[in-house]
Amino acid sequence: MATPIDLTCTGDFMDFSLITAAVGGAANTVAIARAALEVRDFTASAAALAKANHAMIDLQQRMLDLQAAYARLQQENAELRARLHTMADARDRYRLAEIAPGVFVMQSIAVPHAVEPPHYACQPCFDQGRRAVLQKRHGRWECPACGKAVGGGGGSSLLIT
Ligand SMILES: [Zn+2]
Repeated sequence: MATPIDLTCTGDFMDFSLITAAVGGAANTVAIARAALEVRDFTASAAALAKANHAMIDLQQRMLDLQAAYARLQQENAELRARLHTMADARDRYRLAEIAPGVFVMQSIAVPHAVEPPHYACQPCFDQGRRAVLQKRHGRWECPACGKAVGGGGGSSLLIT
């Protein structure tokens, strides 16, 4: 029986050698079937046909595994596209601001009738696809997600312009 095919994406790339192996399995199945057809001895022919049937079943399983992997990849692709779209939308509502020399944050862009108040978000978190609004804690501004303190704005307030 065939080894289950795992086409999950690891890192940035999918292992295409698995697809190559499945195609190679198909070629092998065809070769086995041809060999079975060329056998003239009945006993040997039955054994060859059994071997060919086994190869066909194995190939069918590989094809089913590939179809399942393909469906998973399509789903993953749709989810990643939606996530990219959301991130692009968020990116359009912020701009990089230097609130003190060498201190950068993501500043919300004022929009008429905006639901959210003007604010700053942590730049490193934002670049990782996570919006974390800076919070004032213990007299300094901190990112609630990564815990980094942010300087600037005189320490008591971040001036939003
Ligand atoms: Zn952060």
